[in-house]
This record gives sequence, C-alpha cells and structure tokens, in this order.
Amino acid sequence: MNVYFDNASSTKPFSFVLEKYVETANKYFANPASLSNIGFECENVIKNCKKDVSKILNCVYDEIYFTSGATESNNLAIFGTASAYKRNGMHIITTNIEHSSVLEPIKNLEQQGYSITYLNVNEKGLIDLDELKNAIKDDTILVSIMFVNNEIGTVQQIEEIGKIIQTTNSKTLFHVDGVQGFCKHDINVRNCNVHMFSASGHKIHATNGVGILYLKNGLKVKPLIYGGGHQKNMRSGTEDVAGCVSFAEASKYCYLNIDENFKNVSAIKNYIVEQIKDIPDFFVNGCEFGTPYILNVGFKDVRSEVLLRSLEEKGVIVSSGSACHSAKGNGSVLKAIDAPFTNGSIRISFSSSSTISEAEFFTDALKEVIKTLRKYS
Ligand code: PMP
Repeated sequence: MNVYFDNASSTKPFSFVLEKYVETANKYFANPASLSNIGFECENVIKNCKKDVSKILNCVYDEIYFTSGATESNNLAIFGTASAYKRNGMHIITTNIEHSSVLEPIKNLEQQGYSITYLNVNEKGLIDLDELKNAIKDDTILVSIMFVNNEIGTVQQIEEIGKIIQTTNSKTLFHVDGVQGFCKHDINVRNCNVHMFSASGHKIHATNGVGILYLKNGLKVKPLIYGGGHQKNMRSGTEDVAGCVSFAEASKYCYLNIDENFKNVSAIKNYIVEQIKDIPDFFVNGCEFGTPYILNVGFKDVRSEVLLRSLEEKGVIVSSGSACHSAKGNGSVLKAIDAPFTNGSIRISFSSSSTISEAEFFTDALKEVIKTLRKYS
C-alpha cells in the first residue's frame, strides 16, 4: 500500500477536475480580453468561476481575482495595502507563525521602514485577543492573520479578530491567509469583517498554479503586476481559463461535501491519535483539537528526517514539522509554541480522499519505525 499523508503541501487533483481542465483548455483557448465571440465566451467562463467561488466566501463575484497561487495573493494583499495606505500609517500587525509568503513580504516592508508587530501565540498556536486589541493603533493599516496554520493546524478565531479590528480602528484592513482552511472550514468574509482572503487551488484538489484573492470592493489596494489591465486593473496578464475552471470545480465539490469531509477526516485523525498513545514519549504539537486535516506529532529520541525516510521506505509520505521556515527569525512554528520534541516532529496531513485503512497502515508503519529507530539511538 502507498499512503500519501502530505496533503497540506499539495493534494492530488480530482480526476473530474483534470477532465474539465482539458475540456476547457481545448474549447476556451482564446484570449478572454479579445473582442471576438470566443473571447467573450472565455470571459464569461471566468465570470461564472468567480460567481461559484464568491458563493463559498459570501461575497460578490467581482471581488474575486484569480492569481498564480496564494503566494501571489498574499504578496498582492500585503504590498498592495502597504503602498496604497502608507499615508494613513506605516504600522502592520501579523503573527510569528505565518507562512513565509506572508512573513517575507512583511519583513521586506520592515526593511523599508514600516513598523511591524509580530503577535506571539500560546502553546496551542492561538494569538491572545487582548494583545491584538492593544497592538492596534491609529496608524495600523493592516492586520494579516492566517486562518488555519499549515504546520500545526491551529484554527484562529477569525470572526472575533475581525470584530476587534473593526471596533478598535475601522480603517485597519484585515487580510486572512486562508489557504489551509478554504473549503475545509466554513468562513463568511462579510460576517468576519475580512477585507482580503487568499486561497490556493493545489490544496483543494485543483491544478497547480492557480489561486484567488478576495478583495473587498471599494478598497484602493495597488496591483503588483501591471500590463493590459485585466481583472479590473488589479492583476494584468491573460487569464488561465482552464486553471480558473479547475479552481472553481474543485472548490465547489469540496464545499458541497464540507461536513461529510470534516467527519471523515476527523475520524482518521482521532484514530491516529488513539493509536499513537501506544508509543511512549510523544507529544501532539499545537492542539489535537485544531483542524482535523493536520496532525503534528513529536517523538523523543528520534530525528524527523530519519523518521520521514524510514516511513517513505514503507510506502508512507508525511512531512517534517520542523523543516518549515515560516516563523520569524531562525525558529519555526514549533519553536514559537515551545514544542518539546522539535527535532523529532512530523506533520501528517489528510485530504477528503484519505481513508481509515490508510490510517491503519500508517500507524502500523509508524510504531514499527519508531521502535527500530529508538533501538539504535
Ligand atoms: N499560505 C499557507 C498557509 C500555505 O500553506 C501555503 C502553501 N504551502 C501558501 C500560503 C502558499 O500557497 P501557494 O503554494 O499557492 O503559493
């Protein structure tokens, strides 16, 4: 058996999505900006994709912009806000467990003279809401806080955070890196006072290289990419119609089955946590009650790289929880939460297609590998 439990890195595209992709690439090959009938048809296909996505987030279709992925969406939200709202202030708030596609643009702004507050998180990976409230000042132009952490699975309280921002400084924009939560946990951008929300296709079984940014209408956020003025001047460049369709089809399907998928994945995660209890000296990093799609566990006296390689030899793919560069400085998310066995941690991440029999295969392999590795450590 081969088990792929690295879905937080990337998921396998659904077959029906790939079929739709090829069908669309064949049929709608024209430039959506051209004035021909087929060009209009392509434009219409994209408009319908935006409608599908907007229903999931509870916004309107022309607040959705297609990008090359969430790295671009995050960069657009952060740099676009910073340059457009500089006159209102140069203070930005984020957390020390964001993905590098948020932290690196913010570090770049810090070098340009913006002042940055990096909120700490507790041992579960949660920010302190009072600390956030106290950090918001008159000159705070942006708060960027992720929805679900990609390493440890913590789900932040987006609705409460949105309320705090709105009531403390109604001019401050709220950006959410929603990559690991989109179509897995429900979110309503209006109710949560979210101004910008990033998501990525390859985390939800769409093709690689397509993402979205929800950008609330009426904002002055500046584009990153200039050119022919596509997508209301916000993101120039001929749109990838087939990529947009793959994103819309995959997200519609995942969203339609959101509750069922949640139940299925929760059962898998709970099963693994129960089984791991047989292994001495382990620790669940973050919170075992975070998203059911991610489980991060550390083992004493084991090195994650060796553990990953040994599991792969047995047909199981997971990833290292300590190799991520997403935390500020030289630490990692695991250091930010003060996890005990950082060097022996792995991230196990599931998808709607994961099964209990894969979980059984994985835990059997894990128990065996840990026993062997500890014998020689
Ligand atoms: N944010 C988070 C939380 C992620 O997990 C990822 C992907 N690892 C990204 C942003 C970047 O997404 P993309 O790969 O689409 O650029």
